[in-house]
Amino acid sequence: MAEPLEVDVVVLGAGTAGMAVAAALARGGVSVAVVESGLAGGAAAYWADTPLHALRGPGAVLLAAQSTPGAAQAVTSTLNAAATLARRTDLTGHWQDSAATAVLESAGVALLRGRGRISAARTVSVARLDGASQDLHAALAVVLATGSVPDAPGPAAAAAGPLCWGTRAALSAPALPRRLGVLGAGPNASAVAQAFARLGTGVTVLAPEGLLPGWPGPAVALVGALLRADGVQLWNGVGLAAASLAEGGLVLSLDNGHSLRCDALLVDTVRRPAVHGIGLERLGLVGAPLDGSGLAGGTDWLYCAGDAAADPLADSAAAFSTPWALEQARRTADAILARAGGADAAAVPEALGVQMVFTDPPLAATGMALAAALEAGFSAVESAGTAEADSGQVPAKEAVWGSLVVDADTGLLLGAAFAGSHAGDLAQLAAVGIVGRIPVPTLLLALPPAPSAARLWQQLLRGFGL
Ligand SMILES: Cc1cc2nc3c(=O)[nH]c(=O)nc-3n(C[C@H](O)[C@H](O)[C@H](O)COP(=O)(O)OP(=O)(O)OC[C@H]3O[C@@H](n4cnc5c(N)ncnc54)[C@H](O)[C@@H]3O)c2cc1C
Repeated sequence: MAEPLEVDVVVLGAGTAGMAVAAALARGGVSVAVVESGLAGGAAAYWADTPLHALRGPGAVLLAAQSTPGAAQAVTSTLNAAATLARRTDLTGHWQDSAATAVLESAGVALLRGRGRISAARTVSVARLDGASQDLHAALAVVLATGSVPDAPGPAAAAAGPLCWGTRAALSAPALPRRLGVLGAGPNASAVAQAFARLGTGVTVLAPEGLLPGWPGPAVALVGALLRADGVQLWNGVGLAAASLAEGGLVLSLDNGHSLRCDALLVDTVRRPAVHGIGLERLGLVGAPLDGSGLAGGTDWLYCAGDAAADPLADSAAAFSTPWALEQARRTADAILARAGGADAAAVPEALGVQMVFTDPPLAATGMALAAALEAGFSAVESAGTAEADSGQVPAKEAVWGSLVVDADTGLLLGAAFAGSHAGDLAQLAAVGIVGRIPVPTLLLALPPAPSAARLWQQLLRGFGL
C-alpha cells in the first residue's frame, strides 16, 4: 500500500456535487482530494440530464413547430435519429471526462481514480483502478457525494440479463433498439419512452401503478394523450410476470396474460442515495440524519452533499436535481470552511425545489398538493383548470393546465402544479412565492408582458376571486 495521503478534506464522488464542493473548498484555501470510481462530472454530464435532453430536445422542437401554423408547413420530414444520437454523444463528451478533470486540476484539487470507502473516522481507503490501494486522511472533513442509484430490478425483469436496462444504459445506447419495453411509468421512464418513440423505436410501456403515479390526473391525461399520439403503447395497470431471452431479443410475459417481443427492457425504479457498501454500516452511520450544517450522524467530520444527502425514504427520483446538488454543495463547502475558521456553520436549509417531468408536455410541481395541505392542517383551497396557450405564444396550439393551492387564512401560496411547455418557469414563480412567503396578489405584480405562459396564473386566480 502507498503511503497515506494527508489532506484537509476528502470528497467521495466527483459528480455535480462533489466537483462543486471540492472546487469551492480549494478556492477557500484548504487542500482537497476527490475520489472517483467512474467519470468525473457524474450522472448529469454522461448518464442523466445531458443525454436525456439531447434525445428529447429535437422531438420537442419538432412538435412546437408542427403546432405553430407557418412553421408547420416547413416541417416536411421526420426526426433524424442518427444526427440526434451523434449530438447526444458529442454533448456527453464521448463519455470522456477530460473537461471535468481539467476543471479539477485548474482548481488545484487532486483526483484519485478508484472506489473509495470510509475505513475509519476521517479516513478513506481507495481501491485504485491500477489495482493498488491508497489511504487518505482528512484533517477537517470527509464529504460523501456519491450520488444515487436505482433499486435493483425485480427477478422477472432481471431475467432479461444484459437486455435489462436502467436509464443509464438507455440514454447511452450506441443505437436505438427497434422495440423497447418499459417497466414503470415514472418521470424518467416516461420521458425516455417518449424520446425513443419519437426517434422511431416501437415503445410499449407497462405501467403497473399507472402513468406518472402521484402527479395530478388532468396533467397526466395531457401526457398520456401525447404519448399515445407518439405511438407509445401504454398498458395501464399491467405488470411484468416473466422475461426470457429469445432470438437475440426478449419475450415479455405480462401479468394480464399477453406477451410481447422487444429488443431491450428499460426498468426505471425508485432511486436512493448511494450510501451503502462504502463503510458507513461499520461505523453505524447508515441512514444517520444530517444536522442543519450538513454533518451526518452526530459526527464532527462527515458531510453529505447532492443526491447522497437526500432522504433515503423519499420515494421519488424527482426528489433529486442538479441545481440543488450544486447549491447544496456550495453551502456544504461554506459550512466546512466556517468550522475550519472556528465559526458556527450556517444551517443548510431544506430545498423546496421544483419537481419536473421532462415529457411533452412537461410537468412541474412545487410545494404541497391540496390533499397534503389539508392533511397538514391548512385551510387550503385550490383553483385548477385547463386553458389554451396565450395567443402569439410558441407553441401556438397547446392545452395547458395548472393548479394553485392557497392558504385561505393567510392568502399565501402553498403549492402549484402545471402542465405545458412553460411548466417549469410557472412552477418556479410559485416556488419563489412560497419560499419568500409573498402574498399571491403581490406575485402578480411581477408578471411579464404578453404573450406569456404566466397568463395562466391570472386565469387560475380568478378561481379565488382575485
Ligand atoms: C435519468 C435521469 C435524468 C435526470 N434529469 C435531470 C434533469 O433534467 N434536471 C435535473 O436537474 N436533474 C436531473 N436528474 C437528477 C440529477 O442528475 C442528479 O440530481 C445529479 O446528477 C446529482 O449529482 P450528484 O453529484 O449528487 O451525484 P452524481 O452525479 O451521481 O455523482 C456521484 C459520483 O460519485 C461516484 N461514486 C459513487 N460511489 C463512489 C465510491 N464509493 N467511490 C468513488 N466514487 C464514487 C460516481 O461514480 C459518480 O460519479 C436526473 C436523474 C436521472 C437518473
